[in-house]
Amino acid sequence: MINLVLFGPPGAGKGTQSEKLIQKYGFVHISTGDLFRWHTKNDTALGKRVKEIMNSGALVPDEITIAMLKEELDKNPQAKGFLFDGFPRTVPQAEALDKFMKDNGSAIHHIVALDVSEDEVRARIAKRRTIENRVDDEEEKLNKRITEYFSKTIHVLPYYKNQGRLDTVQGIGVIEDIFKNICAVLDK
Ligand code: AMP
Repeated sequence: MINLVLFGPPGAGKGTQSEKLIQKYGFVHISTGDLFRWHTKNDTALGKRVKEIMNSGALVPDEITIAMLKEELDKNPQAKGFLFDGFPRTVPQAEALDKFMKDNGSAIHHIVALDVSEDEVRARIAKRRTIENRVDDEEEKLNKRITEYFSKTIHVLPYYKNQGRLDTVQGIGVIEDIFKNICAVLDK
């Protein structure tokens, strides 16, 4: 059983790589963004609490996010391994995740950051914009999410790096090559 945290800014190709990794390793995919979207779509009590925050592109408070994550872990006791996508985004979230894993006699075995600079991400998105017809407030939200990543989420990386647990994989290039490089980390 291996558990993986995959980091990367919006537009880094995290979704594509996650799909390929799930297919190869059989991970249970835990995407806190998807979970929050499910709650808002189904208008649950949690969904009502986070809707406005999500619409602004800001981060949902740790307390809410960590409780939702814990619930999701408890729903999957038989998981072969988890791929955490979009979580943790803050140091308290990273600490909570380590604790949950430890309590279950497990651990986060690999932390992989897809390395794509803010300039590159913004350039990719600008290119995409010329192809797709995007709504303005979607653009705003995306901008905010990129800013959140480079101003907040990126500060989680030193938490892992200082413990010698972080692997960085170049996120620019051919999808298959990037995938191979991530697999090399997982298989070592
Ligand atoms: P994502 O699809 O991962 O970019 O997440 C979409 C939105 O859900 C984010 O912009 C946040 O509002 C919220 N969200 C998802 N994961 C987290 C997290 N780990 N901590 C706080 N907010 C989150």
